[in-house]
Amino acid sequence: MAKKPRIAVVGSCNVDLTAFTDQFPRPGETIFGKQFDLGFGGKGANQAVAAALLGAEVHMVARVGSDLFGPATIKNFKTLGIGTTHVKVVKGASSGVAPIFVDSSGQNRIVVVKGANDKLLPKDVTAAAPLLRRCGAIVLQFEIPLETVYHTLRWARKEGIRTILNPAPGMAVDLKEVRDVDYFVPNESEAETITGRPIQSVDQAKDCATYLLQKGLRRVIITLGDKGSLFASIQTGMQVIPPFPVPAKDTTGAGDAFIGSFAVFLSEGLPETEALRRASLYAALSTMGIGTQKSFYTRARFNKEWRARTL
Ligand code: ADP
Repeated sequence: MAKKPRIAVVGSCNVDLTAFTDQFPRPGETIFGKQFDLGFGGKGANQAVAAALLGAEVHMVARVGSDLFGPATIKNFKTLGIGTTHVKVVKGASSGVAPIFVDSSGQNRIVVVKGANDKLLPKDVTAAAPLLRRCGAIVLQFEIPLETVYHTLRWARKEGIRTILNPAPGMAVDLKEVRDVDYFVPNESEAETITGRPIQSVDQAKDCATYLLQKGLRRVIITLGDKGSLFASIQTGMQVIPPFPVPAKDTTGAGDAFIGSFAVFLSEGLPETEALRRASLYAALSTMGIGTQKSFYTRARFNKEWRARTL
């Protein structure tokens, strides 16, 4: 039996408000929608949920708004057994929200309001230090202030705590600021934005990974959608982790499933490539269901699929 890992996510929580319509409203127009869905999202929260469903002890360090969604988000974490000691309500701020319109052809238009996520500051991470010191891995994304991400990476390096950074959404960053991270995990478009290099093929992903290693990053994992992922490090060179073929229905949140599950498998003590193979299946399975958190598998369902596909 693998040991139960303890993982912290220093990151975002959003509420996704999705309205399904025949067509998008024109400026000034009010129309009736066909359906509405409210879902808990945000990259940080999604990754925390994937890790918790896989049986890890997970703690969230985050900020929510003083509105209807703040307490509901905390309740959702509690229901899933995720630690919320360091999830605080910010007075006067809205929660992070993502109003989404989806038209009948499946196209979407999304507005993300960061709200309280923007109020998670370095001092809040310092306040969580006693908890973070007990964790085997800290997972971060770019939906909170960058200064908080940089601070956490520097601090964790000094403390010897493993970090996994998902630089999403992609934005131009000074790579020197993230050199303390152990695993840098962008998807194709984020890697393109960060490096200014195109990725249309696995070979181009390798060039991009080489560039990132030259900039001082230790280990880079570029996720490549249905082409799998690429693992690159100075020690082990380049390795393509193949995808698991699945009938994909909705790939939203696949990256979050991949990262949350990778954190768990790695913290259970598996070698990197073994952890990545399992993350590859966990993420693939999530594409078979609609939505993000709602499409993530529990440990029991994952183990069954893993056994069926690998033994
Ligand atoms: P993001 O959701 O951030 O865009 P990706 O689309 O790269 O991330 O997906 C993350 C991982 O999920 C991939 O590396 C792959 O392992 C898996 N995955 C994504 N789409 C598929 C698919 N259609 N079939 C199988 N695996 C997939």
